[in-house]
Amino acid sequence: MNYSNNTYAALFNAQKEHQFRVGNTTYKERVKKLKALQYAIEKTYRKEIREALYKDFRKPQIEVDLTEIYLVVKEIKHTISHLKGWLNKQRVDTPLSLLGTSSYIKYEPKGVCLIISPWNYPVNLTFGPLVSAIAAGNTAILKPSEMTPNTSAVMAKIVKEVFNENEVALVEGEVEVSQELLKLPFNHIFFTGSPAVGKIVMQAAARHLTSVTLELGGKSPTIIHESAHIEAAIKNIVWGKFLNNGQTCIAPDYVLVHESIKNEFIDAFKLKVTQYYSENPQESNSYSRVVNQKHFNRLVSAIEDAKEKHANFHLGGDSDAASKYIAPTLVSNLSEDTILLNDEIFGPILPIKTYTSTKEVVDYINSKEKPLALYIYANNRAFVNTVIQETRAGSTCINTNAIQYSNHHLPFGGSNNSGIGKSHGFFGFQEFTNARSVLKKHTIGPLHLLFPPYNNFKEKIAKATVKWF
Ligand code: NAD
Repeated sequence: MNYSNNTYAALFNAQKEHQFRVGNTTYKERVKKLKALQYAIEKTYRKEIREALYKDFRKPQIEVDLTEIYLVVKEIKHTISHLKGWLNKQRVDTPLSLLGTSSYIKYEPKGVCLIISPWNYPVNLTFGPLVSAIAAGNTAILKPSEMTPNTSAVMAKIVKEVFNENEVALVEGEVEVSQELLKLPFNHIFFTGSPAVGKIVMQAAARHLTSVTLELGGKSPTIIHESAHIEAAIKNIVWGKFLNNGQTCIAPDYVLVHESIKNEFIDAFKLKVTQYYSENPQESNSYSRVVNQKHFNRLVSAIEDAKEKHANFHLGGDSDAASKYIAPTLVSNLSEDTILLNDEIFGPILPIKTYTSTKEVVDYINSKEKPLALYIYANNRAFVNTVIQETRAGSTCINTNAIQYSNHHLPFGGSNNSGIGKSHGFFGFQEFTNARSVLKKHTIGPLHLLFPPYNNFKEKIAKATVKWF
């Protein structure tokens, strides 16, 4: 919906007034809402979603089905099958010193939530967090990215059809809309996007002490050890890198390959690109496009910068502005000051760096911000364990990439610069709830012996309590 500036506050207030009604909904009522959302996405609007994403950045239909629709549907199904347990009181143990009491945790909804999403997986990254927000019993205002307007328009229709706006509303528009929304005292903000905007969101949230989940990005390294099965590794890396045209937060951002297998890696990579996307990827129906001119220009500048600094292009490096096409690109011999080795690439360009020792790999990764994902291709357990032990990352895959996202039993998110908080399954539900502690006293317990007035006898009991209980 296109709301005007002064209606954001009205919308917020309507949800605020309604929050206890929504918060007190039963498991069955929440499941009903989730199923209605699932039906709209999977059945009623599947075709419109596919068309909108094709218009927005030529996203292939299969990728829409797998990375947008399927992932949300999977989140809904996973949530429905576990929600009853999550909503139950979680009983906890009672220490001896509190004999006569019992305690439990109640996951209560936070209240009115704001979900700001990026353009790269717009359906998945808007409705995925919404599933957790609904499961937890919140109301939510959604603000998808202005860069995929066709998809936002379809999502607005879905939201309008499935929900009352005093429980879920979707607001379309430019960055200014997010800025206006961020002035409101939400109970929780779930933001997915770049670290730079994440900082703006966190500052705005701090004004109201609003809690935040920040799902951010960064440079995800991919290590190829000399023990790796190159052919198997390449199959995954080429897929993971060029899926969504490289515009994936957990795509391999750059490769650290052992010096001894660099040439083998390059040859296998080139062959696999041709097998997946043909001799001319511009003609391939499996290869999408850069989302807009701004991002196209950013990526072309990064390529030009690498060319000026004498990098070696093994594949690609060319582009077509009219169709926002950038060829699948593999580049090595990059100087450390190149854009490609410093900024998150978020496009179909893969830099290679070589290494000769484990220490070199670990030190290089640790010299950068903590990545959202770190991938290790190796068949040497000691190497894998050392890398996991000596580095930090939001997630890691061994001998594959990107698919950790689709296991809803795993938390998904980064650490510091790559994110704060987690999404998916129970972890997403947790983000949208407050773990409320409830303690009930049943009978007089030993604590009564310690109430004032204090005396020598009570001092002895206090000492014994500290020592023994
Ligand atoms: P972005 O940070 O530019 O924008 C994200 C959202 O923030 C959009 O809805 C946009 O309208 C809004 N926004 C932009 N500037 C704003 C401002 N000044 N004030 C308030 N709101 C503002 O990110 P993007 O280009 O849409 O997405 C790419 C980034 O997102 C990459 O860094 C990528 O790694 C990251 N990402 C992370 C995940 C994850 O799950 N961790 C998933 C997808 C993308």
